[in-house]
This record gives sequence, C-alpha cells and structure tokens, in this order.
Amino acid sequence: MTKFEALGLEKSLLDAVTDLGFESPSEVQEKAIPILLETETDLVALAQTGTGKTAAFGFPLIQKIDSNSRTTQGLILSPTRELCLQITNELKLYSKYEKNISTVAIYGGASITEQARQIKRGAQIIVATPGRMKDMINRRLIDISKIDYCVLDEADEMLNMGFFEDIKDILSNSPDDKSTWLFSATMPKEVALIAKKFMHNPQEITVGTKNAGTSNVQHEYYVVSGRDRYPALKRLADTNPDIFSVIFCRTKRDTQRVAEKLIEDGYSAGALHGDLSQNQRDLVMNSFRKKQIQMLVATDVAARGIDVDDITHVINYQLPDEIETYTHRSGRTGRAGKSGISMVIVTRSEMRKIKSIENKIQQKFITKKIPTGIEICEIQLYHLANKIKDTEINQDVENYLPAINDVLKDVDRDELIKKIVSVEFTRFFNYYNKTKDLNSSDSRERGDRSNRGEAPTSGSVRYFINVGEKDGYDWMSLKDFVRDTVGLQQDDVFKVDVKESFSFFNTDAAVTDKILATFTDLKVDGRFVNVEVSKNPGGGGGRRDRKRSGGGRDRGGYGGSRSGSGSGSGRDRNKKRERSSYGKSENSGNRRSKKRKSDFF
Ligand code: ADP
Ligand code: MG
Repeated sequence: MTKFEALGLEKSLLDAVTDLGFESPSEVQEKAIPILLETETDLVALAQTGTGKTAAFGFPLIQKIDSNSRTTQGLILSPTRELCLQITNELKLYSKYEKNISTVAIYGGASITEQARQIKRGAQIIVATPGRMKDMINRRLIDISKIDYCVLDEADEMLNMGFFEDIKDILSNSPDDKSTWLFSATMPKEVALIAKKFMHNPQEITVGTKNAGTSNVQHEYYVVSGRDRYPALKRLADTNPDIFSVIFCRTKRDTQRVAEKLIEDGYSAGALHGDLSQNQRDLVMNSFRKKQIQMLVATDVAARGIDVDDITHVINYQLPDEIETYTHRSGRTGRAGKSGISMVIVTRSEMRKIKSIENKIQQKFITKKIPTGIEICEIQLYHLANKIKDTEINQDVENYLPAINDVLKDVDRDELIKKIVSVEFTRFFNYYNKTKDLNSSDSRERGDRSNRGEAPTSGSVRYFINVGEKDGYDWMSLKDFVRDTVGLQQDDVFKVDVKESFSFFNTDAAVTDKILATFTDLKVDGRFVNVEVSKNPGGGGGRRDRKRSGGGRDRGGYGGSRSGSGSGSGRDRNKKRERSSYGKSENSGNRRSKKRKSDFF
C-alpha cells in the first residue's frame, strides 16, 4: 500500500498521482486529506507556499463529487486569474481517470459569455476569482445554491487584495450546511475573522510554524545608496549567471522602468504589472515559464499568481510597505522542496525594516556585500569556462574544421584558450574594470562625485539652479535645500554638482513639475532662485558608454573636466562644456556597449 493509498484515496486518483510522479504526500496533504475524506467538516489549513495545498483540497474534493450529477457541487475561490487557471489545470490532471468530472475556471479579463456557456454545460467544480464570480452570480449566470464544498484558497492573499466584501457576498448565495475549507500560507487577523464569521467549528491544521516564511529560503540584504539600486541589481544578476528570478518593485512605474532598463542593458527581462493588458501579461508569463525571460520584474499584486517552481532568486528591488508582503514575495522561491534566495536591496535608512521582517519570519538575514567589478569578472570567467566545457558540439562544425585549423594553425592551445575566453570576457572586463564599490559605508561617502558612474533608477532630469558656492552651498547643503524646499525624500535629489555661482542637480523625471512649480518666483534672502531643466541629461540618462576606455564613466563627465573650468566661468559656457564632455561618450559606441545576454551566458 502506498502512502497515498493509506490516506484513503480511490484508484482513479492514485493512478493520477502515479502519472504526476508524486511519490509521497506532503505534510499538509498527509494531514488534510484523511480529515476531509472521512468527515464533513470545516477546516483551516495553514501551510507555506509550495507545500502542495492544491492537492490537499483537490484530491478529497474530486473524490467527494458526485460525477453522476451535473450540479455545481464545489466552488474554489482563489485570488488571481493565474492561480485560478493553475488550480483548474491541476484538478483536471487529478481527475483525468474520473469520467464526467468537469472543472471550469471563472476569472476576469476573458469572455463572460464563453464562461457562462461552459457553466451551462454543467460544471461540478468551479474555480473562480472573487470579482468575476460575484459578477456572474449577480447576473444569474452561476448558481451556487447547492454546493457542498467551498474552498478559500490562498485566503490571506485574497484578503490582502481587498476581496473580503466580495467573498462575503458570494458566500451569502451558498447554503449554510456546506463545508468550508480554508487554505492559507499565513494567518493574519483578517483570515482569523473569516474563519470565525463563515465557518463552524473548523478543525485546524498547521504545517511548520505559523506565519513563518519558507525555511529553505535564505534571506540576504545588501546596503547601497538609493540611487545605486539599479547598478546593484545588475551586479547581483551578473554574479548569478543562471539566475531565474522575480524582482519586486513597489510601483507599476518602477516595475516598467527597471524592466526596460534591464532589457536595454541586454538582459532577458520582462515586466508584469497591472497596466499591461491581459494579453501582454500572458505573453510575459509564458516566456517566463519557458525561461526565455530570466528576470521578471513585477509588482506585488501582479506577481500573486506566479506559480513557477524553480525560481532561484527573489530580489526585493525595494522593500514592500507591509511586512506581510515580504513573506509572499520570498515565498515565490524555495518552492516544491527546492532552495532559494531572497535578496533585499536596502538603503541605510531602511535597515530597521530588516529587523521587523526578521521578527516576522523568525529567520535571520545575512548581510552581504555587492560584489566588486573584479569579483564579477572572475565569476563570469569561470562560468564561461564551464559553459565552453559543457557545450554540446555541433557536428556540422566538422565540415569546416580543416579550414578553421588552417586559420588557427600557428596558435597553440594556451593561446587559443585565452583568445576564446577573451572574445566574451573583454566586454565584461571593460564594463566592470574600475567601477566603484557600491556598498554603502558608514562614513558618509563623498557620494555624489563618485556616484555618477552608473544609471539611476529611472529616467532622471538634470537641472540648472542659479545658486552656488558663493551663496554658501556645497553639494550636501544644496541637496538639502532643494529637497526641503520642494518637499522630497532623502534620495530624490542626486548628482549635485555645485559651481561657483550656479549648480546642477538631478531628480527623477516624475518630480520635474513639482520642482519647476516650486521654483517659480521663489525668493530666498531677497534673491530669485531660479531652476531650469538643463539641456543636457547629464548624469541622469544612465546611457553612459560602458566601454570607452579611459574611464569616462568613473571619472564622471563633470569631475573630469572640472579642473579646466575657471571659477568665474559663465553659465552658458559651462553648459556647453558639460554637453561636450558627455556628448562624446553618449554617442560613441553606446550601442555597441550594450552587452547582449547571449554574449555572456
Ligand atoms: P501551494 O498551493 O501550497 O503553494 P502547490 O499546490 O501549488 O503549492 O504545489 C507546489 C508544487 O508541488 C506543484 O508543482 C505541485 O505539483 C507539487 N507537488 C504537490 N504535491 C506534491 C507531492 N506530494 N509530491 C511532489 N510534488 C508535489
Ligand atoms: Mg496554492
């Protein structure tokens, strides 16, 4: 007798289990299945993401459904369309040897008429998102007045997404004597409330510790200055050439921008957020599942449905506002018994949040350093060597071998290896050679000067302001002045460059209007302080040439030519100089400098 058989599953399900390749039940399955099969009871089951909850309710549900009746007997509510489809697919696999069980997925963003038609044909099991479900009940397209079982899957996420009222409405259309099975990764008080309000003496099972994140996930954090988030992200990716990751940003805008920048910089990346059409989201998710996309940049809401098992890294590009959300994020990796890493890029001021998360997940973070350029080169070099070693030989090469041998006849083995490796490696080396350390140190770095090298988060705008050293400003005090006058956050003003009688600074393009509005007719100490958008995107564009030797990016355009500018140089002259010191590197070789994924991995 197999372990699954011992749980009381019937033959057709056991055959499906064999096909699925499940060898033994997971803990939540072992605990939940016998209870659900043997008794008519309400149940609250808490188990982390990736522990096999779908089968824990799916097997018993299928076994209990009367396949001779076409009446809808089971309803599964789940937070997102993706999860809905995933559960439906799983249930179909589970019930493949059960004749006559029909499972239908109901979710928004697809034809309601088509879904209604499928329901009409008879669906014993409906898997639905709350929004569409409520809609279809209201339109009398679905009748759940005779269901025996209601499953609330990923209850915490549904509540997080604000589905409480919808769930309440839906359940009010269902019979009182049904059994309700609630599955959740965590048990915030909202879930406890649901259990109390809609369930009768539920049995409780808990797998692992309540509210703990998945324990096969290692949590790491990296401290950088706010505007180094993006270069830090790139380095993390470059350090892990086989990365298959979800990168979380806080807003749709940042999500889109980070994805665009990654693509522009040659990574296989894609964005997933609510402003995309369903079609676009499907395309991205499909590419991600097929691993054509290695880095999926997503918002929390959009990522809810991600059901991909072998994600190696979750990267918190920005920390979420809610600590609870961190648990959901990190739960995207370390699924199905695999191990995973959850990385957090933080600024010094956010470090207290790490402590709160540690308390919440009851796991310690490891502090790690963003690798230096040289370390990354080394990693890439070994990766390349291994890749060459493991490359399957294309037999067609054989035909050309005599000719190739002829070309290479005077090159010995050692030299040949050096050359082959250099073909790829030099690009990396040129990019990372002489880059600065991104790790934020305690001693306040002379930041802005040295930080110019790499791109900021998103499209930034450079400004000219008509105050400078002679008005008593240095880069720090000017930064504070702009920030406080406009009412911005600590890291919103960057690349501050103070000259004698005027200065330059950058902000994110999103606050340009605010900046310009604030500095309209603004008088300080009886003098008009005037801000204009500088013609030159300056340090902000982040499209600096990475390849140009001579270290243009590290020296920074302004810094490099600063010595040449007399202290009394006029504004226009200076702007021109600024333009020229960038103009060159902007144009020359910028395209070529973009490293393409295939070039390295
Ligand atoms: P959860 O809902 O708890 O996050 P899922 O039900 O989505 O987890 O299952 C996660 C993965 O584990 C799926 O790929 C599923 O097929 C697989 N899985 C589930 N049960 C078993 C089992 N008993 N043995 C092996 N793999 C399993
Ligand atoms: Mg699940």
